[in-house]
Amino acid sequence: MATDYQFSRRGFIRTGAIGVGALALAPALSAMALNKPGKKLGIAIVGLGSYAGGQIAPALQHTENCYLAGLVSGHPDKAAAWAAKYNVPTKNIYNYENFDSIASNPDIDIVYVILPVSMHKEYTIRAAKAGKHVICEKPMALSVNDCNEMVAACRNAERLLSIGYRMHFEPYTAELIHISRNNVYGRLKRFECANGFTYTQDPNAWRLKKALAGGGSLMDMGIYTIQSARYTTGMEPIAVVSARQEKTNQTLFAEVDDKVFWQLEFPNGFIANCKSSYSDQWSSTHAEFEEGNVDLNPNFYYGGIKGTTPAGPMYFPQARQQALQMDDFANCVNFKKESSVNGAEGIRDMKVVEAVYRSLASGKRELV
Ligand code: NAD
Repeated sequence: MATDYQFSRRGFIRTGAIGVGALALAPALSAMALNKPGKKLGIAIVGLGSYAGGQIAPALQHTENCYLAGLVSGHPDKAAAWAAKYNVPTKNIYNYENFDSIASNPDIDIVYVILPVSMHKEYTIRAAKAGKHVICEKPMALSVNDCNEMVAACRNAERLLSIGYRMHFEPYTAELIHISRNNVYGRLKRFECANGFTYTQDPNAWRLKKALAGGGSLMDMGIYTIQSARYTTGMEPIAVVSARQEKTNQTLFAEVDDKVFWQLEFPNGFIANCKSSYSDQWSSTHAEFEEGNVDLNPNFYYGGIKGTTPAGPMYFPQARQQALQMDDFANCVNFKKESSVNGAEGIRDMKVVEAVYRSLASGKRELV
């Protein structure tokens, strides 16, 4: 499969068995103001775009620990239409200029930042300074430095920060993690993961502007495969080797990457193969264990996930990933505990992303 990924750097591809260790958990918060456990928390969405409208707001109609309480938008008409649809009071509608006054609104406990990547840092920090807990969409920010600033701002404000990593709350994915970390089918021998879509949207959209998106398919879609490699193996990668294929559309993807291929090297020598694309419909994880394979395909969709194991097809009721993700964070806020997908988790992925880009530039193995 390495040839499929179009690179074969001598001496790098060694498939080893992994020792499974737990991902490091962030320390618990110390002096955070405690919400009354059981309170249904108010979430304000910042950025009423396609993910907010297609997934998050509908999911908030099914959450138990939180609800849609506020809206932040640069478009008054859109905000008014949302407010009518979701029964959000006019006093809880903000724009980007008066956003900071959300500080004095007791209806809002959590701000969910669903903006272009370049805006994640500013709105996460402003939300924390306004005294709100924050969920920030993936990828966390443009750089590791920006991510560190976001974590520091939330820590200083004694607010919790979580990243919009929904797969941690998806049952097929949880089963793969369980299988791998408990050696249910023996040790993991090989891992391949792919995520991409065929970009047919607005040629002027922020996703295609480097200043707004930070990168292309790697930042947007590849981050899921980095997550999958990390949570499946239970280890942190120490080095990467990457390669890109010629862009399928030089004009459309002038500023951002299209197809990227990379290998993650783990401390025990285990290698994970990952790839991302803006010109392929990919969404799969393939994990080979000593006693057979586990495949999730599709893996990263919002629903309709399918999985097979050596014991046969997996079956779990389809989960509302985003509702579970937000309920979990509301629970974390209510009970003063760090999210399993906190800022530190976002930083770990951004460190890998930066190493992949360094490797693309240098043509060499780069340390994470
Ligand atoms: P989108 O373009 O549909 O929405 C972006 C929103 O930001 C719009 O409401 C737009 O009006 C607003 N905005 C404010 N300033 C802007 C500016 N200068 N340029 C462009 N838009 C501006 O994007 P989206 O697909 O909803 O993505 C938003 C975020 O959600 C991104 O971080 C993306 O990675 C993330 N996302 C996550 C998932 C997931 O599964 N977790 C899925 C899709 C998107």
